[in-house]
Amino acid sequence: MAESVGFIGLGIMGEPMALNLVKAGYKVTVFNRNLEKTQTLKKAGARVASTPAEAAQNADYVMSIVSDSAASEEVIGGKDGVLQTIKPGTIVIDSATISPVVSRKLACATAGKKASFLDAPVTGSKHGAEKGELTFMIGGERETFDRAMPLLKVLGKKHIYCGTYGAGLSAKLAQNAIQSTMVEIFCEGFVLATKSGVRPEVMMEIVQNSMARAALTDFKAPFIFKGDFTPYFPLKWMHKDVTLAMEAAFAQDIPMPVTAAVKEVYASARAQGKGDLDYAAVITFLEELAGVKVRSTE
Ligand code: NAP
Repeated sequence: MAESVGFIGLGIMGEPMALNLVKAGYKVTVFNRNLEKTQTLKKAGARVASTPAEAAQNADYVMSIVSDSAASEEVIGGKDGVLQTIKPGTIVIDSATISPVVSRKLACATAGKKASFLDAPVTGSKHGAEKGELTFMIGGERETFDRAMPLLKVLGKKHIYCGTYGAGLSAKLAQNAIQSTMVEIFCEGFVLATKSGVRPEVMMEIVQNSMARAALTDFKAPFIFKGDFTPYFPLKWMHKDVTLAMEAAFAQDIPMPVTAAVKEVYASARAQGKGDLDYAAVITFLEELAGVKVRSTE
């Protein structure tokens, strides 16, 4: 008999992930707070639950990918949450990027129900989720990681075991500290070049023939040059992640001076109302300060 999955959170990432599980033959029950977003999954054959607790009932796996720490706490540990109904032996996989401290508390509460927990944040964005090519960074018991692999393989191309509870999230926060900075500094450089009279396409040719070339900025540049900030990874979530990285740094007395500055650039763009745009829209904040636009029709 097909294994069953309770799937919580059908946002940019969750919807394509849940669809891939349905296509792979899992018996999927979805929950999304806003019911409208359950339509695609319903058409694909998923059952729709009215609470996370209902989605988790009798499930072999529960997967959750909601926005932030408070949302994960609510859907997993809250009054209508997964832990209200979960059966012993179920594996709860939380793929949201949240505080490792909050995640460890959820892992503890899950263990109290004789179920298992993995923090399993992802990278690869919407495209990776659609293609089933995400990279997972995973914390928890190694034995749980091994048991969850058949399901995780449907969703990702790479699964990296990082260590005990919270280790996947610690890795993810470090990764997004790097990624947020790469995009922000790329934008700063292009604002300088454009303002100085060097066209974006000329500057791009230079970057692509230098050691500054990166897969991330190769991917983002065409969107930036077109001014297309359709959210693949919303700016508000990148701001959340650099804030979480700084909290982790503070807790361990680690100075992260560049991340601290970059966090405030994302905070400024978010304060301007750009939070729901893709995080590459951070360039528009810099452009407004410099009085120039980095756009190209080529
Ligand atoms: P999103 O499109 O904004 O979706 C957020 C989801 O969380 C929605 O389903 C939303 O439900 C749900 N939610 C929020 N608060 C809730 C609450 N209190 N109770 C129940 N559900 C709640 O976000 P996303 O881009 O899919 O990202 C989800 C997570 O993955 C975030 O932690 C993000 O940092 C991480 N992530 C995203 C990407 C990416 O490229 N997008 C990549 C890696 C990791 P409603 O529809 O009802 O609002």
